[in-house]
Amino acid sequence: MPKLPVIISKGQSRNPEKRGLEQALAAQLAEHDQLDVVVMPHIYDLTPQSEGYQVLSQIEGDFVMISWLYSRSCHWIMDRNGIHGHAGDILLSQMTDEDELDDELEDELEDEKERVINQLDLPNRKIYSLEFGASEKVEDFVDEVLRIAAQSDLLEWIQGKANEEAMDRFLSPANNTALANHGQLPALPILGQPGVTEVQDPGTRRWYPVIDFSRCTNCMECIDFCLFGVYGVDRVDTILVDQPDNCRKGCPACSRVCPENAIVFPQHKTPAIAGAPADAGGLKIDLSLLFGAPDAQDVAARERDEQLMLAGRSPVGQGDEAELEKADFANISMERRQSTEHVANADPLDALIDDLDALDL
Ligand code: SF4
Ligand code: SF4
Repeated sequence: MPKLPVIISKGQSRNPEKRGLEQALAAQLAEHDQLDVVVMPHIYDLTPQSEGYQVLSQIEGDFVMISWLYSRSCHWIMDRNGIHGHAGDILLSQMTDEDELDDELEDELEDEKERVINQLDLPNRKIYSLEFGASEKVEDFVDEVLRIAAQSDLLEWIQGKANEEAMDRFLSPANNTALANHGQLPALPILGQPGVTEVQDPGTRRWYPVIDFSRCTNCMECIDFCLFGVYGVDRVDTILVDQPDNCRKGCPACSRVCPENAIVFPQHKTPAIAGAPADAGGLKIDLSLLFGAPDAQDVAARERDEQLMLAGRSPVGQGDEAELEKADFANISMERRQSTEHVANADPLDALIDDLDALDL
């Protein structure tokens, strides 16, 4: 009988409390017949070719992902790696009621902007990204997962897809032992705890930006700012993180120049850069000081210069035309700056880099 997949993405640290929470949660979820529990390494570190992503790519319907990341970071990491879907509503969150109000206000004020998400052809399924940071209690997560599982049934019923069996489960939750078709997980070795499948994928720690397409307006500020060839565009000229592993470890500079706060570094120590709601941890953050504002641009330019110098290249400061033309481009490694030939040159710097690319040094 198909079940609702619940994926637990382990944290990077060996903190025994965190390991304990992961294991206890996996064990308790596995007691519920309607759930299929899989434990895998930290989702941020996995590449699209990894066994973890092979498992995820075989899930056709709704699923739940529980990770040590903020919900939106986790969602868009998966999207970047080919696991697409709509973000399912979650009730167990680090987000306060006040945040939700702020978000609604923000949406109302800015809904005239065209966001990339509106152009994406997302499959008709929901991905529920839960945050381990939302609670220290295993029961809270189990309750939330069971609520989501029951809701998946309810949605099918509202959409007129529910058969008698699903209707019975909705009317009698106590008998809710099997869910409608959520897609089947591939057969994998069952390791460790009974009923829990574990993907053992070594992976290495990675550092790269993640774009939240529900905020991104495709303005291309980031591709113009980064001089390490991380960003590119797809065939319809939409921004993407093309060469994630070109990103400089610890550098969050481009997140500060994004006017929409759409660039997330999930492992950054500043919660707002890691994808947190505006007042995570009870500390209200003025996002304008972190993203897009003149001060933020100065900080970003300094951070980028540090990385350029560490890489043996010349700093370029704020990047006005005169300074950029004086920059020591002979030392710039020739990573691909854009992934296709479809983008028109946005500024003189683009033209110069394209000319250098053409020399095939
Ligand atoms: S700067 Fe931000 S909004 Fe603009 S394209 Fe990059 S991610 Fe999107
Ligand atoms: S500007 Fe820095 S942080 Fe942003 S992608 Fe480039 S190297 Fe990475």
